[in-house]
Amino acid sequence: MHIGVDLDNTVLDATSSYLHFYNKVSGLSFTPEDVNDFYFYRLYGWDNTERERVYHRYGHDIHWNSSPFPSAVEVLQELFISHQISIITARPLLFRDVTIDWLKHNGIRYHNIAFTENKLQECIDSEISVLIDDAPHYAKEFADKNIPVILFEQPYNTSVNIDLVYRASNWLEVNRHIHDLEGSLR
Ligand SMILES: [Mg+2]
Repeated sequence: MHIGVDLDNTVLDATSSYLHFYNKVSGLSFTPEDVNDFYFYRLYGWDNTERERVYHRYGHDIHWNSSPFPSAVEVLQELFISHQISIITARPLLFRDVTIDWLKHNGIRYHNIAFTENKLQECIDSEISVLIDDAPHYAKEFADKNIPVILFEQPYNTSVNIDLVYRASNWLEVNRHIHDLEGSLR
């Protein structure tokens, strides 16, 4: 199978790393328990321009200091042996180098990597069989086009409950869904 894999809050804990730097910049002290919005910069009362300014300044450190979720590395290493793995991230190209260095540093191998906010088009063009992601909007978009999504559970996606969206709260569950899908997909 050709498997698309998101990074932030799917393979790695982006929330903790973002909060660490956003708290530092703002002097506020939010914790992961406070996050219930995919666009959690809104917690800080920032508009998108302010978020961009902070992100461009601290994005490298935010991405470099994120930790992989338990078993993510091991499961991806196993999947790499018998599947095609494409990392598909909406991170801007500005953070391409730190992203590639982080993947190498953490022992995550892959066949392709794409930096795009238009994940649907990328996945259609590269004939991806399933996407692993945490974002509610991608899950809905993909399910509409009959492409299955393994939705990595986060507080802001608990209300997504639609056909072709398979929820996983950890990487062992992701692995189980992949094995189940293998039987039913091309
Ligand atoms: Mg994500």
